[in-house]
Amino acid sequence: MPSRYVQGAGAIDEIGSFVSKLGKRPFVVAGKTSFGKVGVRVEDSLDSAETPLVGFVNSVGECTYEGIDSAVKESSRARADVIIGCGGGKAVDTAKAVADKQGLPVVTVPTQCATNADQMADAVIFTADHQFVEDYYLSRAPALVLVDTEVVGFAPVEYLVQGMGDALASGFEKPAYASTMLKNESDSLATSAAVEVNLRCFSVLMAHGVQAKSDSQDGTMSDSLESIIEAIKLMSGFGFGGGGCAAAHAIHNGLISVPGVARKHGEIVAFGTLSQMMLERRSSLEVERVMRWCGTLGLPTCLDELGDLDRSRLREAAEKACDPEDTMQNMPFEVTPEMVLDAINMVDDVSRSLD
Ligand SMILES: [Zn+2]
Repeated sequence: MPSRYVQGAGAIDEIGSFVSKLGKRPFVVAGKTSFGKVGVRVEDSLDSAETPLVGFVNSVGECTYEGIDSAVKESSRARADVIIGCGGGKAVDTAKAVADKQGLPVVTVPTQCATNADQMADAVIFTADHQFVEDYYLSRAPALVLVDTEVVGFAPVEYLVQGMGDALASGFEKPAYASTMLKNESDSLATSAAVEVNLRCFSVLMAHGVQAKSDSQDGTMSDSLESIIEAIKLMSGFGFGGGGCAAAHAIHNGLISVPGVARKHGEIVAFGTLSQMMLERRSSLEVERVMRWCGTLGLPTCLDELGDLDRSRLREAAEKACDPEDTMQNMPFEVTPEMVLDAINMVDDVSRSLD
C-alpha cells in the first residue's frame, strides 16, 4: 500500500507541498501526452514550494528495462532525490522502477483511470513491441499517490470504463484467493481488511458505476464519480501486495492469445470476471445483475463483443488460463480447461438470452 493517498478536484496544484516533504530535487518520468496535460501545473506548484523540477523524461511508451535504465541515468545525472511518475500505467510503472533502482521515493500522478498501477508496489515490464516480460517487485510502494479527480474523471470516458472492468475482478478474485490460502494452510493468508475493502469496491461499482460514467461524459464532478475513482485507484488494489488475482485475470491471460480479441485489459478482465462467476456457480440472479451492469457501461458480455474471434482457438485459451504458473491456481477448487471453456460459453449464452 502507498504511504499516502490524496484525492480531490485540483489536487495536482498541491503537489509541491507534498513533494517538498520527500525531497528537494524532483524529477518527472511521464508518458508521451500526459506531461503536456498537467506539466505546467506540476511545475508551477513545485516552484512555489521551492522544489523546482531538476529534469524530466516525457517519452515513455512501453514500460521496458531499456526505458527504465535510460531514465535512471538521466535522473541520477540530474541528482534527483524524488521521482514523480505522471501518466497512465506504463509511465507510472516506469517511474516506480526508476525510483526503486535508486532507492528514491516515488510520487505517482495518474492522468487517467484505466489502471490502479499508481498505488501498486510492482512494475509490469514489457518489450518495446508489447510482449510481457515479468513483474518487477519494488522494495516499497509509492510514497504518495496524488489523484486529481478533474484530470482522471474527465479524461476520455473509455478509461474510466476500463478501470471499472478491471476493478470488478477484485471483489471476486480476492475472496477466492483468500479462501484458497486458508484452505491450503498457506503462509500467505489475506488480511480481512483487504478482503473487506475489495468487497466494498464491488458494492461501490454496482451503486455508482453507471452514474459516474454519465457524469464523466457530462463533465460534472459528483459524489458518484469521486467514489468510483476511489474504488478504482485505492480500493481495487488495497492489500494486493500479498497476491490477489484468480480466475478472472487468468482467463484474461488466456483470451489475449486468441487472434481477433480487440478489447483492452479491463474490458477483457470484466468478461473474465463473469466467467469466474460461472466457475463459482453463482446464482443466475447475481450473474445477471453484474452482466447487466457491464452491458450498460459498454463492457463486453459476449464473445462477439470481445472482437472478431477465431473461436477454434478458445480451447487453447482455456488451457493457457489453467497454466500452473498463472493465477487460476488461486481458485479454491481445481479448474480444468473444459470448465473454463464451459464457463466462457455459459457467459456468452446468458448474455445473448438477456434483452
Ligand atoms: Zn488487471
